[in-house]
Amino acid sequence: MDKQFLLRRIPQLDALLSEDLFCFLIDKYGAGPVREAARALLASKRQAILDHEETVPETINLEITDLARETESLIEVDCRHDLQPVLNATGIILHTNLGRAPLSNSAITAIIETSHGYNNLEFDLEIGSRGNRCDNVSYLLNKLTGAEESLVVNNNAGALLLLLDTLAKGKEVIVSRGELVEIGGSFRIPEIMTQSGALLKEVGTTNRTRLSDYAAAVTENTAALLKVHRSNFRIEGFTSEVGLAELSDLAKETGLPLIYDLGSGLLHPQPPAILAAEPQLTPSVLGLVDAVCFSGDKLLGGPQAGIILSRSDIVQKLHKNPLLRVLRVDKLVLAALTSTLRSYQDPDSLSEDIPFYRLLTVSEDKIKERAQNLLDLLLSKNVKAQLIPCCGEIGAGSAPGVTLASWAVAIPAESTVCSLTDIEQRLRLGIPPVVAYINDGKLIFDLRCIDDDDLYVLAEAIKIASLNIMK
Ligand SMILES: *Cc1c(COP(=O)(O)O)cnc(C)c1O
Repeated sequence: MDKQFLLRRIPQLDALLSEDLFCFLIDKYGAGPVREAARALLASKRQAILDHEETVPETINLEITDLARETESLIEVDCRHDLQPVLNATGIILHTNLGRAPLSNSAITAIIETSHGYNNLEFDLEIGSRGNRCDNVSYLLNKLTGAEESLVVNNNAGALLLLLDTLAKGKEVIVSRGELVEIGGSFRIPEIMTQSGALLKEVGTTNRTRLSDYAAAVTENTAALLKVHRSNFRIEGFTSEVGLAELSDLAKETGLPLIYDLGSGLLHPQPPAILAAEPQLTPSVLGLVDAVCFSGDKLLGGPQAGIILSRSDIVQKLHKNPLLRVLRVDKLVLAALTSTLRSYQDPDSLSEDIPFYRLLTVSEDKIKERAQNLLDLLLSKNVKAQLIPCCGEIGAGSAPGVTLASWAVAIPAESTVCSLTDIEQRLRLGIPPVVAYINDGKLIFDLRCIDDDDLYVLAEAIKIASLNIMK
């Protein structure tokens, strides 16, 4: 084809964007990404033509339908780098890599309403002047838990760092060797302590620590006793651990503060039986410690946050620490956290209101029905799959060893002509991305954390990912 003729046929960007197919893309992806991708595509078409001599082969396609399809592919590749919704077919409810706890509807509404305009983030409405960032949420936290005072920071690692830095910089903190946990990523108790400037004084052994071990380690250079919940592992066999009550007595005798890193933050007053082994945050626990800290996005079911409940004098000291500014929490998180905590004022509604509890307590029959519905959709699209029982987890290092009986749709290796890892990868790279897992020669989609409303989208994603590779 004639080079000049082809160059003249390249559409103007604005004309192209007003085509129906492009209006459809703009509705789906927004004007910015479509304009950017279409501009890049037209530029690459122009370059491809210029790269030829006078005659250009027919392979350069300028049909509107093809330009729209190629634009969409460019947008999809570009979007892979965005933070975006993912369908979680892993059966792990608080998946740390997938954003931990989904938020309640009221928390989502609170985020929207708070982000719309102005708010009383650091403004005391009663006296009409500057207030503290956490005053609003602290008021509710104290009322709900019976804590004397409270404070919220960016996450629980930050909460512990702030406590140690404030109470124990340059001094010793006594911890059992059985509680020197690593939570995953880069949270290791010994490293957080080093960072805070507190000196770690390990006592006992991995499996056994006695009260006398703690007592013998106290010197004039001791600043605090620390107890850490072993969130993500269990020690079985020949073990002994010092309970909170005994440690509390020692703290009182020695005049040292007792800090408790509770980890998950189980605030539910009547938790489901499956959480029986998780330490609950009760008034009696609060009465035994000087400060307790936990995550907002684990068993609490709220946004990422580190919550500290403590004596007023300690919280006053925390407020004076410049680190608080570094660790401070955003207004949208506070909006979501406040709303999540409001749900706890009516414990009977928690299993409905808080997605974490809804996902935890959904019946096996309900998940099986959902899996069957997905299977029917897949079979109607000629995807060969089967219904199988499977096991999920709570996740985020909470309740180690507890498995959640569930149901899945599985694609067996023998029904495809390629490897299951290929389909698994195609699913991750789709829009929306789907995260499933391979076990025992099957690609498994656990339906616990999939919304009924997302079944069609999931079925379509699985169909597209397995296109041309089913036997
Ligand atoms: C999860 C956990 C942490 C870290 O909490 P983040 O909110 O993820 O920073 C600290 N301590 C314990 C015991 C935990 O379980």
